[in-house]
Amino acid sequence: MKLLVTGGAGFIGSNLCRKYLERGDEVHIIDNLSTGKFENISDLLEKYPDRLSFDEDSILNDKLVMKLTSLADVVIHLAAAVGVKYIINNPLSAMETNIIGTENVVRGAKVFKKKIFIASSSEVYGDQEKAPLYEEDSVIFGPSVKLRWSYAASKLVDEFLALSYYRTLDIPVVICRFFNIIGPKQTGEYGMVVPRFVDQALKNNPLLVYGDGNQTRTFTYIEDVLDAIMNMMENEKCVGQIINIGGTEEIKILDLAKKVIQLSGSSSSIELVPYEKVYGKDFDDMKRRVPSLEKARKLLDFNPKYGLDDSLKIIIDSMK
Ligand code: UDP
Repeated sequence: MKLLVTGGAGFIGSNLCRKYLERGDEVHIIDNLSTGKFENISDLLEKYPDRLSFDEDSILNDKLVMKLTSLADVVIHLAAAVGVKYIINNPLSAMETNIIGTENVVRGAKVFKKKIFIASSSEVYGDQEKAPLYEEDSVIFGPSVKLRWSYAASKLVDEFLALSYYRTLDIPVVICRFFNIIGPKQTGEYGMVVPRFVDQALKNNPLLVYGDGNQTRTFTYIEDVLDAIMNMMENEKCVGQIINIGGTEEIKILDLAKKVIQLSGSSSSIELVPYEKVYGKDFDDMKRRVPSLEKARKLLDFNPKYGLDDSLKIIIDSMK
């Protein structure tokens, strides 16, 4: 099978390309290296020179996207502006990539009638207190002056766009909402909490917990995510569906910090930092984020194999 992977040099993308290449597939990557890194794929390019190719370009280049889509059997669309810090610092490019870029990619799939995977996010649920979150739950967004919601809204637009192509033109789309994916080689540069805490703990620096630390998340280990994506692409029942992929252990961020310190044997302390100091005054955090995995279990037999402690131990070892 020939795959076009947008954002293939990113954390999820490069790991997914590796899996497809190991399986014997052909992969073409388009990535502008805005948050992705060439070093994520350089060993793959050396190892699979005949089956892996790479364009350093943006999905805003619609002509290139069209050409690459015409050559592929399926499209995995992972290219996006990601990371809370990145969105806050690059609000325009985030909107352009996530809305216009996705439109280009989905339009390519429409023109050439290719199956397409759309990476969405648990961010679309917005500011929720309830748990677990079901795919058909209503979303709750704050005001547009708070940049955080622009990411959620852009991902929601992506979902609407993909679903409308599916409903009106029968384009086979599969939409996945990821819940805080973690794993080795993820960078903390764009805000992601786990690589930041692990880095701080290994340096015996204070772990900086934003807000009061009572906000919760569930984390998903990358290998579980890769299996889920590959299964979704094979499974006809997933076409036209939105599916949560996430972990099962809800944890307060303060407790996550304590866990990272304990598992890494660090002597770090914990400091609470007001959100305003990190992200400015126009910022809202999400209080709670727990997926319902009912649908993923039913359609994909999805059952995460990696618990939080095991995932953190692997990440700590890889960052040592
Ligand atoms: N967070 C933190 N310290 C950090 C980075 C993040 O306390 O150095 C908090 C952040 O405010 C949020 C949680 O950790 O409540 C998860 O943040 P992340 O950016 O990883 O993911 P998201 O907010 O998109 O779920």
